[in-house]
Amino acid sequence: MSSQLRTRNYDLHSHSTASDGELAPQALVEHAAANGVEVLALTDHDDTSGLAAARARALELGIGFVAGVEISALWRGRGIHIVGLAFDPGDPALRHGLATLRERRQRRGEEIGRRLEKCGIEGALEGARRYANGEILSRTHFARHLLEQGHVKSLNDAFRRYLGDGKRAHVSCQWATLEEAVGWITGAGGVAVVAHPARYKLTATKLRELLYDFREVGGAAIEVVSGSQDVNQTRALAEHARRFGLLASRGSDYHGPSQPWIGMGRLPPLPEGCDPVWRLWEEGTGVASPGLIEAPAATI
Ligand code: AMP
Ligand code: MN
Ligand code: MN
Ligand code: MN
Repeated sequence: MSSQLRTRNYDLHSHSTASDGELAPQALVEHAAANGVEVLALTDHDDTSGLAAARARALELGIGFVAGVEISALWRGRGIHIVGLAFDPGDPALRHGLATLRERRQRRGEEIGRRLEKCGIEGALEGARRYANGEILSRTHFARHLLEQGHVKSLNDAFRRYLGDGKRAHVSCQWATLEEAVGWITGAGGVAVVAHPARYKLTATKLRELLYDFREVGGAAIEVVSGSQDVNQTRALAEHARRFGLLASRGSDYHGPSQPWIGMGRLPPLPEGCDPVWRLWEEGTGVASPGLIEAPAATI
């Protein structure tokens, strides 16, 4: 089969206004299609409310679509993101789990607002809520407000000075455990993927421990290619995937036009020897895939 089929341009990590992305789900799909993405997963933080609109637009434009989500989890006290792909978005346990995380986001946001007030910044919660526009509340929304009000020089500066781990307005949150995050995804028929493993700044030993624990609870893949890493990190992650027998995913983590890293459609291919996560649904095995739209066959 693979000798007849060329690898499609997969982007399995992206955000819309349903979480902290800048483009509405439909506009995001249009942007993906215009930039050569052939199969897109929308993976909003702790939320699946954008999937239906994105899926419908993908169908109209004739690109493939995979239901996705990016779940906020805690592993040994660290924030780790677990992407879920090709699951049933209607699964009750998944829906309930994500709803609890969104509720905790609201409580955390209130506390971030109070901390920023102590730093002399008034009205940040209201400002962040305006950016969130009734959808999930993210630190990104606080960062956009701080930038707009001239308190910081860039979004990155907002994280560096106030919102990042250990900074003055950082509030730790009781996210899902690794076991819960993976369990919700696999319980809904999907595949669990460690998002952007290079961003956690783990030592090689700690990363191996994370991958070991992740695999123990039913995790199956890692992002080997991500928009925010360099070629050496990609090579190292390909080796980690191979050693752990994990499948390889590829995603830009696109948040919109003002994001600093690689945009859509321009990701490097998976390194030689990786076992791609899309094999699961291209071969019709292992995932529920109700969110999938089959793209037109991509032949050489
Ligand atoms: P949250 O999920 O609310 O904790 O916010 C995390 C989000 O903040 C990530 O998904 C990124 O989109 C964004 N983020 C984290 N660090 C930075 C940074 N240094 N610069 C810009 N955005 C960031
Ligand atoms: Mn984000
Ligand atoms: Mn992430
Ligand atoms: Mn992301």
